Amino acid sequence: MTVYDVCIIGGGASGLIAAISAKRTRPDLKVIVIEKNDRVGKKLINTGNGRCNITNADISADHYYSSDNAFFDYFDGFSLNDTKDFFESIGVLFKEEEKGKIYPYSLQASSVLDALRYECERLLVDIHCSEKVEKLDKSNDKFQVATNLSSYTSQTVIIAAGGAASDKLGGCRDGYNLLKQYGHTCTPLYPCITAVKTELNLIKALKGIKTDAILTLKVGNSRKSDFGEILFTEYGISGPPVLQLSQMLKGRADNALFSIDFMPEYDFESIVSMIKKRLNSVYEDKLENLFIGMLNKRIGQTIIKSAGLQLSDSASNLNEKEIRGIVSKIKKFPLEVTGVRGFEYAQVTGGGIELNRFNHETMQSNLCKGLFACGEVLDMTGDCGGFNLQWAWTSGYKAGLSAARSIKR
Ligand SMILES: Cc1cc2nc3c(=O)[nH]c(=O)nc-3n(C[C@H](O)[C@H](O)[C@H](O)COP(=O)(O)OP(=O)(O)OC[C@H]3O[C@@H](n4cnc5c(N)ncnc54)[C@H](O)[C@@H]3O)c2cc1C
Repeated sequence: MTVYDVCIIGGGASGLIAAISAKRTRPDLKVIVIEKNDRVGKKLINTGNGRCNITNADISADHYYSSDNAFFDYFDGFSLNDTKDFFESIGVLFKEEEKGKIYPYSLQASSVLDALRYECERLLVDIHCSEKVEKLDKSNDKFQVATNLSSYTSQTVIIAAGGAASDKLGGCRDGYNLLKQYGHTCTPLYPCITAVKTELNLIKALKGIKTDAILTLKVGNSRKSDFGEILFTEYGISGPPVLQLSQMLKGRADNALFSIDFMPEYDFESIVSMIKKRLNSVYEDKLENLFIGMLNKRIGQTIIKSAGLQLSDSASNLNEKEIRGIVSKIKKFPLEVTGVRGFEYAQVTGGGIELNRFNHETMQSNLCKGLFACGEVLDMTGDCGGFNLQWAWTSGYKAGLSAARSIKR
């Protein structure tokens, strides 16, 4: 049986960079990546709609969430510029788009995965796919890693098994369970960066419509807004601003209300004047035609109804109060949150294994020497926009480097 120095459980973003950093640090070491899927990086090639939003120009504490107050210390030693240098060293160039989102210049997630895979090959990392780690024991200072096919001995182990989100791409709870076995505790998990279920009565007729809007989410006393394309669906709403704000819900719907501004370029009073001007020229004098050329037809009709008016009512008879009622629905269309879509639809898992039991410089467990962890399995969640992959690169690189440095011979 081959005895390894570094055994990495999970061949996703954090596991692959961990393997590369371990081998670059100590080329003499034997490093293995064990991946349960039939190939590595299945989630990675689906990131950013196949374009891989690899990181963000604004890597700062404002974009991350964790139960650990000192969470941003974990970014020390390998952050944005190190990530850029690392990827450039394997041939990946970058392109920056709106909101600081950084993509590979090729705009192909597959090219990021190829570059990582080829570097692993060049460095002679052993990669075993279609093998699921089922058991992890430690005796005589060495780990025994049992899979469905074989078992391995290793001096150090890095848990890079990801989180519970998106099971079709490899998401599962194995990483949490393996770490819990060594005394680590896990915060409650919740689906994050996911579509949201809302009351449907008001928006039934909007299914399939996409529109640019400012979406505001109020949860208890906190409130955040984001601009972008909203998609109305059979369960509620989706689209970039919804995914972005879903983090605030922490998987729950209590006290949560969306409001949609369908005309963010115009203030309330300008829309009031705009409507007054068109009152007497509305085709057939019916409210259903009030918004022709102004709003999507079905959105316009939904607004009329939600303002308590009938589509067949006369437009020229609208009074000041009714006009203002209509405009308040255009600027602040209310939509009650009823739930979030589950882990299977989520991009990321909120919560995870508590960070404070890991050394922030090395990613080594304080509870079990030789055991390291990185990536989504830990309690660090980023906003949508490249922040989660940055955490995978940061924590994976540091774990690989430290695991390799910890081997004495
Ligand atoms: C559709 C989608 C789009 C996304 N887009 C972006 C984006 O553009 N930008 C961004 O920053 N983030 C994005 N994310 C999030 C990002 O992909 C993850 O945060 C990141 O991949 C986490 O890296 P990881 O290494 O921790 O986990 P993963 O990449 O999930 O890798 C973990 C690996 O471990 C394997 N594994 C688990 N258990 C075992 C076991 N017992 N034995 C062997 N192997 C095991 C899994 O099969 C998996 O391959 C997206 C996520 C999804 C689902």
